[in-house]
Amino acid sequence: MPLETIHKTTGKQSVAPNLWDYEEVRAGFTWDAARGELDGLPGGGLNIAHEAVDRHLIQGGGERLAVRWLGKDGTVRDFRYRDLAELTNRFANVLRGLGVEKGGRVFSLLGRIPELYIVALGTLKIGGVFSPLFSAFGPEPVRARMEIGDARVLVTTETFYRRKVASWRSELPGLRHVLLVNDPEMPLIEGTSDFTDAMAAASPEFDIVPTGAEDMALLHFTSGTTGRPKGAVHVHEAVVAHHITGKYALDLHAGDVFWCTADPGWVTGTSYGIVAPLTNGVTMIVDEADFDAERWYRILQDQGVTVWYTAPTAIRMLMKVGAEIAHKYDLSAVRFMASVGEPLNPEAVIWSQQTFGRTFHDNWWQTETGGIMIANYASMDIRPGSMGRPLPGVEAAVVERVAGGGVKPLDRPMATGELALKSGWPSMFRGYLHEDERYAKCFAGGWYLTGDLAMRDADGYFWFVGRTDDVIKSSGHLIGPFEVESALMEHPAVAEAGVIGKPDPMAGEIVKAFVALKPGHEPGEALRKELLGHARRRLGPAVAPKEIDFRTNLPRTRSGKIMRRLLKARELGLPEGDLSTLESDES
Ligand code: AMP
Repeated sequence: MPLETIHKTTGKQSVAPNLWDYEEVRAGFTWDAARGELDGLPGGGLNIAHEAVDRHLIQGGGERLAVRWLGKDGTVRDFRYRDLAELTNRFANVLRGLGVEKGGRVFSLLGRIPELYIVALGTLKIGGVFSPLFSAFGPEPVRARMEIGDARVLVTTETFYRRKVASWRSELPGLRHVLLVNDPEMPLIEGTSDFTDAMAAASPEFDIVPTGAEDMALLHFTSGTTGRPKGAVHVHEAVVAHHITGKYALDLHAGDVFWCTADPGWVTGTSYGIVAPLTNGVTMIVDEADFDAERWYRILQDQGVTVWYTAPTAIRMLMKVGAEIAHKYDLSAVRFMASVGEPLNPEAVIWSQQTFGRTFHDNWWQTETGGIMIANYASMDIRPGSMGRPLPGVEAAVVERVAGGGVKPLDRPMATGELALKSGWPSMFRGYLHEDERYAKCFAGGWYLTGDLAMRDADGYFWFVGRTDDVIKSSGHLIGPFEVESALMEHPAVAEAGVIGKPDPMAGEIVKAFVALKPGHEPGEALRKELLGHARRRLGPAVAPKEIDFRTNLPRTRSGKIMRRLLKARELGLPEGDLSTLESDES
């Protein structure tokens, strides 16, 4: 394959796609061959951090730029693969000094700062389990996840520690060590130690602890309709899928400048904001700042970004500010653009073609799959609104559940059913922590059932329809209604709460709560504000409801469950559907 070809639709010169022909690559693909693209540990075994960082040094790529970090204040910090190797060795030694052993859980609660990347990869080097928390979580989501995940070490900042951890820390005795990335001028808080000092005192030499393919490596929390957050367990073998999906779905080539705008507090920001770009030997851009259209275009231009991976909410925000701003910048270096996390509206695909001369390529996956499963590829014509076709090595189907616990694939084109994946790809989650039954329920007849509804057309392209459950997708973040309801119920005025996702043109959905009050409390604007504030303090801005409505009662089933489906139908003026299980009703 010649490296430089002419892009078939735009006429622009571009790099030949890694996945040059879908059918051909898929036919010849085996996961064993994909494993062969990685090295394995020198003494045997597999470790994500070795594949992401150290192996580049062995192969003579140590001087290449691994990470360019752009600070909010204009600071730029560059890390070569060699620097990353040394810093992650140091952090592995810090953890060793703290007595962390293989399997020890290390959590981060950090914004997009260099320390986050060092903590993630250093933890993997010592055979520990890395679990990132989103920095916009409030104290409740942070605490729940660290409790479920048996956190041993937390790396955070002084501000986050004071606001989100200090009040409950003593109730989590298993959390032995808190390292703070501090302002050097600040005195240390009791019971914590200083990250920078610990790093400076640690040796830059470290031999990666030999981990096996099935050893636990990453713990990503996700949400369901009921119960507490679920800790999806991923193992070192996931790196095989991270690598190959980075190569095929994102078309990463060594030497690319890649920008994944997702926060590493969520799975996309780990699989494609840390691991896949590094295993593929690219330079990744990390921007500390929040979304800002001009800033983003300036980054794309000034950093010469070649591959850009972002999300529909961000694309809609770019559409809102208008194409004229985009046209002020030279974005000609951008070769491939991809999107994930929520449905990508066809208008956004068309807008991107008109604005950038290139289309966003939608792809689909979820926390449990660990990596991209369905994608629109660089070499394939896009069908705007479709998520694309399954990765080589991935078998996807639209199925219906049948009596007795099995599933039946629906072969008729455009039939709606549950999206299912034949189990067994390397980055498949290996469990929900401490919840074997919940895990087992996700599988039937050799298929993993995703909880999404989809259709497949006659040519094998998949189309997203919706969710089978009540989880909410807001700005690309998956939110469990139960977690929000529980926080609202902690308020002394609240008798019951029901939470839904309300469609929103920008965020996809916003979190909306319906609340019934205890006797003696009257609905009103002051109480609404108080409840919004209460939820925001507990849950953080990413999870808290944006709207609260008062109801005298909430609709419940005979078994006492709040019928969120009905709350949603009424909110949106949709048919109320089957009400046979309705026991009490709102009034
Ligand atoms: P998470 O586990 O937080 O990554 O969320 C995964 C869920 O996001 C999926 O189960 C889908 O409901 C949704 N999702 C992810 N990618 C897409 C996409 N390309 N189109 C539509 N929904 C998506």
